[in-house]
Amino acid sequence: MLGRIKRAGLTIVEEPEEAEVIVVNTCSFIEDAADESIDMILELAQYKRTGSCKRLVVAGCLPERYRKEIANQMPEVDAFLGTGAYDQIVAAVEGSNTSGGCLLPNPDLNPAQDKDVPRALSASHMAYLKVAEGCSRHCTYCIIPKLRGKKRSRPLQEVIVEAQNLLDAGVKELVLVAQDTTSYGKDLQPTVNLSQLVESLAGLSVDSPMKSGAVVEENDIAGAWIRVLYGHPESIEGSFIKTVATHPNVCSYFDIPIQHVSSSILKKMGRQYTRDDLRRLFDKIRSQVPDAVLRTTLILGFPGETEKDFETLLRFIEDTRFEHLGVFLYSDSDDLPSHNLPEHVPASVTQERYDQLMSCQLDISAQNYQKYIGQTLEVLVEEAVEDRLYAGRATFQAPEVDGMTYIKFGERQPDAKIGSFVRIKVTDAMEYDLIGDSI
Ligand code: SF4
Repeated sequence: MLGRIKRAGLTIVEEPEEAEVIVVNTCSFIEDAADESIDMILELAQYKRTGSCKRLVVAGCLPERYRKEIANQMPEVDAFLGTGAYDQIVAAVEGSNTSGGCLLPNPDLNPAQDKDVPRALSASHMAYLKVAEGCSRHCTYCIIPKLRGKKRSRPLQEVIVEAQNLLDAGVKELVLVAQDTTSYGKDLQPTVNLSQLVESLAGLSVDSPMKSGAVVEENDIAGAWIRVLYGHPESIEGSFIKTVATHPNVCSYFDIPIQHVSSSILKKMGRQYTRDDLRRLFDKIRSQVPDAVLRTTLILGFPGETEKDFETLLRFIEDTRFEHLGVFLYSDSDDLPSHNLPEHVPASVTQERYDQLMSCQLDISAQNYQKYIGQTLEVLVEEAVEDRLYAGRATFQAPEVDGMTYIKFGERQPDAKIGSFVRIKVTDAMEYDLIGDSI
């Protein structure tokens, strides 16, 4: 949407009070996200009175899920665009759309992304690279396939061209995303797979990331980082694990949301694997990629989750020792198949389980981070925190969801450049963050 707005010759401003048009791109996959989206819309609607705002546009999953119902309740919004209408953003911004204020075309009919639309990056050093849109699975708690349509992978060559353009623009980290990334390419003709794509991306030409300052030594990372998020346990192929193991610039980072491990809960969730399958998968990854970092996501309080199911999950988390863990509380809604399942878990019980699980993970994370003390790491500098102190990320820290690495610079060292790679020696570790000195 930003690319289309820019191509139309409109100016993008950072501060909402300066904007003549405000676009809120929304999420609504759980109740909290929908509430947050609504609060943000109402907050930004104030600028129609206090700022320069003349039009307010709401795009994405909120109008796609709640359709006319939400449009009727928010008269302050001038145009709603569902997930299949993002390509009509310019008309919505300019107010030139003649077909009404709430556009909800079928998302299945809209391609994942148009290769001819330039990208407008919200950060200069890191870019999400969407490899597919939609999902063809049927997890019973998930509204996403309904909101984003069936999985449509982008052609391999198209993704490669976009990646090269991003690298040429100075991007230092490409983060591959989709609803079900590891199924990439299975719907294309001829079919391709994620490892073919990642192999191609790993070989793209890029200026050495270490160029801007620190000394380049043998074994230094030879290209921009490539990171893959949102893998699915059923579609991780051996070839992908091998590709990660082979290329030093592909982060040894495996983000595989498993949601649960109890057989009865997985079955009710519509997920076709078992706890033993998961054990085998994570053992295989760790044996083939010795520096692998595992991240997973869980849902607690799914209908029918018993104390025994929870204990099984807790044991699995204690044994597997994921480096990173995200936990959601089950979010119910009457448009989900899981809504009709019996034995919904009281919110207080789910919260207790959440607290117990997170306290276990806190210990795991703290112990895991201790091992980095004294080690030398490559860190991508992301922001200045205060004088001589910067925040960045190591390869095992994904943007936005994991912790940070704080980097201290000595008085005599030159200032760090945002978006550059620096080498640090880790001096201290907190539960979720590291601290080190630039060397
Ligand atoms: S695989 Fe992910 S996006 Fe697809 S239905 Fe399941 S939870 Fe939703």
